[in-house]
Amino acid sequence: MNVQLLEATENPEELICRGARNDYMSEFNADLSFEETMASIEGETIEEKKRTLIAHLLQHGHYGPFEHPSATFAVKGMSRACMAQLTRHRHVSFDVQSMRYVAFDDVDPADVEAGAMVVTPPSATDANWIGRNQKGGTVDEEIVAKREELFLQSVRGSVEDYQELLDLGMPPEDARFVLPIGTKVNLVMTLNVRMLMHVADMRAAADSQWEIRELTEEVLAKAAEWCPLTFAYYEEKMQGRKNRLAP
Ligand SMILES: Cc1cc2nc3c(=O)[nH]c(=O)nc-3n(C[C@H](O)[C@H](O)[C@H](O)COP(=O)(O)OP(=O)(O)OC[C@H]3O[C@@H](n4cnc5c(N)ncnc54)[C@H](O)[C@@H]3O)c2cc1C
Repeated sequence: MNVQLLEATENPEELICRGARNDYMSEFNADLSFEETMASIEGETIEEKKRTLIAHLLQHGHYGPFEHPSATFAVKGMSRACMAQLTRHRHVSFDVQSMRYVAFDDVDPADVEAGAMVVTPPSATDANWIGRNQKGGTVDEEIVAKREELFLQSVRGSVEDYQELLDLGMPPEDARFVLPIGTKVNLVMTLNVRMLMHVADMRAAADSQWEIRELTEEVLAKAAEWCPLTFAYYEEKMQGRKNRLAP
């Protein structure tokens, strides 16, 4: 999976602070410089003042201001199983690659091992992998080799059948019915900072599936560069407490 930040609000933390300060000022926010807006906030520098206010907001559950800045991510090669989990989040906006208009007729079924077209879960190849519903412990190497063989054989068969159905004139929107739920998809998603923290609360947690956890960790890493004070506080003090931002 490849996750890239496409676009994001400039100066997101200034915007969060401006939004929050608006609630407690008699002046019109837009008439003031950012420094004037932050005058009463504790701190020697403007950076310190931002850190103080953002920590205060997160500590007191004042999450509204975090809805102002948003970021758009492009994701390549996520399974449709993972996409179904991600798209349950109703305040995220999505554009999803269509299997109606994009026919994957150029994929070589022999490349299935290399992850062409379908995601291979780690449990298909790694004897030491422990899934969330698994009791634990290393699985016999021979059994894992059989798993891998069966998994790849099944995927290869589906990809070949799909392409043969296309050759027989079946429209891609119908031929896709034979493809597995692990079939890869590219998508673009936009979400605000509050929602990003909520998705992370739900999906970076240990009981979420490995793939959506991986995606969330990537998104969080990029969010930390974009909105550093907010996500530093989030990582340090808040992560892992489900349904807190949106009970
Ligand atoms: C480990 C795990 C396992 C899961 N297993 C399943 C499963 O087996 N089957 C299944 O169907 N789902 C499953 N889910 C999905 C889960 O139930 C939620 O649908 C999904 O995580 C979306 O999150 P959310 O409910 O917080 O809603 P979001 O869409 O992310 O909305 C954010 C918040 O907005 C508020 N909100 C949004 N819409 C409404 C509304 N209509 N009414 C009231 N409040 C609203 C809520 O406070 C909500 O928390 C699973 C999720 C996880 C993390």
